[in-house]
Amino acid sequence: MRRVKVLIWNENEHERIHPEVTATYPLGIHGTLANGLAAKDLHISVATMNMPWQGLPFGALNDVDVLVWWGHILHDRVEQRIVEAIITRVNAGMGFVALHSAHHSLPFRRLMGTNCNLAWRKTEGGERVRLWCVSPSHQIARGVPMHFAIPADEMYGEPFNVPKPNDVVFINWYQGGEVFRGGCTWTRGRGRIFHFSPGHETYPVFHQAEVLKVIGNGVRWAAEPHKDGHGMQNLHRPVPLEN
Ligand code: ZN
Repeated sequence: MRRVKVLIWNENEHERIHPEVTATYPLGIHGTLANGLAAKDLHISVATMNMPWQGLPFGALNDVDVLVWWGHILHDRVEQRIVEAIITRVNAGMGFVALHSAHHSLPFRRLMGTNCNLAWRKTEGGERVRLWCVSPSHQIARGVPMHFAIPADEMYGEPFNVPKPNDVVFINWYQGGEVFRGGCTWTRGRGRIFHFSPGHETYPVFHQAEVLKVIGNGVRWAAEPHKDGHGMQNLHRPVPLEN
């Protein structure tokens, strides 16, 4: 069986400086995700911003099938060479799964071509959110209930200033009444992109089974361009005109 190579990249800053986040994610969000997504068909590795080369030395993405990205307070410190490498690799077929505040990450904004702003409201202690599956035939919805609740998360609401998604798989509804396209897909070049909004660092969202199920599905969906016989080298090589 071919295993999908997944790299989970995490800013890993809140976990190091905010005790309540350390308590929720003692392994870091990346470590919790790596454990929660562990499966025979996935080869998972992790990288964090506080590692040398921000965890992504030159060439680090070359054999990655899907890059999972969590970032929040250090978006602007991500090196430009990393952003460029991600854009190049996504266009060549690498999947990109953007989690929670990665809507404002440099690579996601570049891939979308918009500022990706959204409506925000302070929610002390978090707010109950219900995710409704609105594309039940989508691969990302496989095995996921038609709706499920996250007991506490941050409110992200519409309008979400992104290009029209290929598919809206989940719509979030918040206690306060707002709605949000919380699970959306796009393609860029050969690459598939999935943004899934739940997962504020102070709440144990990434410990929740339904959330991990969706992210696992998203990773497998985003990896698919690689499963149809195109090797990565071929994706980079221009096809001669005479062919
Ligand atoms: Zn947040």
